[in-house]
Amino acid sequence: MLDLAIIGGGPAGLSAGLYATRGGLKNVVMFERGEPGGQITGSSEIENYPGQKNPGESGYDFMSTWWAQCSHFGLIHRQKSVVQITQNSDKTFTIKLEGGESETAKAVIVATGSTPKRAGFTGEDKFFGRGVSTCATCDGFFYKNKEVAVLGGGDTAVEEAIYLANICSKVHLIHRRDEFRAAPVTLEKARKNEKIEFITSATINEAYGDNSGLTGLSLNTKDGVRDLKVPGVFTFVGLNVNNDVLRQDDGSFLCETDANGQVKVDLKMRTNIGGLFVAGDLRIDAPKQVISAAGDGAVAALSALNYIENLH
Ligand code: FAD
Ligand code: NAP
Repeated sequence: MLDLAIIGGGPAGLSAGLYATRGGLKNVVMFERGEPGGQITGSSEIENYPGQKNPGESGYDFMSTWWAQCSHFGLIHRQKSVVQITQNSDKTFTIKLEGGESETAKAVIVATGSTPKRAGFTGEDKFFGRGVSTCATCDGFFYKNKEVAVLGGGDTAVEEAIYLANICSKVHLIHRRDEFRAAPVTLEKARKNEKIEFITSATINEAYGDNSGLTGLSLNTKDGVRDLKVPGVFTFVGLNVNNDVLRQDDGSFLCETDANGQVKVDLKMRTNIGGLFVAGDLRIDAPKQVISAAGDGAVAALSALNYIENLH
């Protein structure tokens, strides 16, 4: 029986592992299906983590020291995909792994993160991280005083277009319909912003570029094909939280979630199920930043330590 199982090895899972092992737990396993590091390892640059020695380094380089530190304190990494977490009648948890294996644990921290949806246009994958981005807070500064495009019509797209307009010389907001999902007040603010050009009833046909990255977009608009010479496009077409592991056989979730499938937690990262904690992008109201995910992981581990200590 594990004391603690951590699912996911991004900033939240790794920070949880560090705090749990340094906090004295001996039998802690982190189940991470890939290399530890999380989604930030796919980013070409990160410069907003406090105390960084090399602001602007790649996300991969930035995360490379995190696992070594956790390993030093005794965290075990099992490179396995978790399929499902269930709770047993004695309040322990069963962690079902790919290939039919399973483990039991007294407590579980789920830190499986989120995955920005891909829009599906040609060239999106090819230029992802080299001009195609899903994070304006992270990458907006790289386009200071340059023209960029934003794709989407929800709150995120419109809010991020406004954010980018503070940095960039112009923002082309591309949306596939004339109607927006974004809140009217946000939309009005964007419409009043002279730096934002609305391109509605339009889709991206193709993103193109060269070895240096993205150089432009070919759009299908109601007036025909339009070429947009931009070095950056931010796609905000929705987000999938990785909550599959919490799905039970009857289709319900193991713990409470909101309508978007984000897990409800309190300030101690506790779910409504004793011994089950959630940290990082998967939780409600997550700022979706490395710093906040790491903070959540530490809080969840401290809560798990407390929970395990009080089991008997
Ligand atoms: P994640 O980083 O998503 O990690 C979750 C981990 O869980 C993954 O490694 C995944 O493999 C694993 N996992 C998922 N499901 C399973 C399963 N079933 N079994 C086993 N393992 C599983 N934030 C910043 O602060 N600054 C930036 O500059 C920045 N730039 C970004 C650039 C890009 C391109 C992207 C996509 C995001 C960026 N972010 C940035 C956001 C930041 O990466 C996330 O907020 C942060 O990584 C969330 O951490 P997390 O630990 O909650 O989840
Ligand atoms: P969202 O509301 O799901 O909006 C996604 C947008 O992307 C929609 O406009 C959609 O178009 C468009 N889209 C989807 N797939 C596309 C594709 N393949 N190609 C082109 N466009 C595509 O996502 P979100 O904006 O990230 O918001 C997620 C949730 O968080 C929402 O509930 C939102 O209200 C909430 N949120 C709230 C705030 C806030 O309260 N301040 C801020 C951010 C987010 P259609 O409209 O045509 O479907």
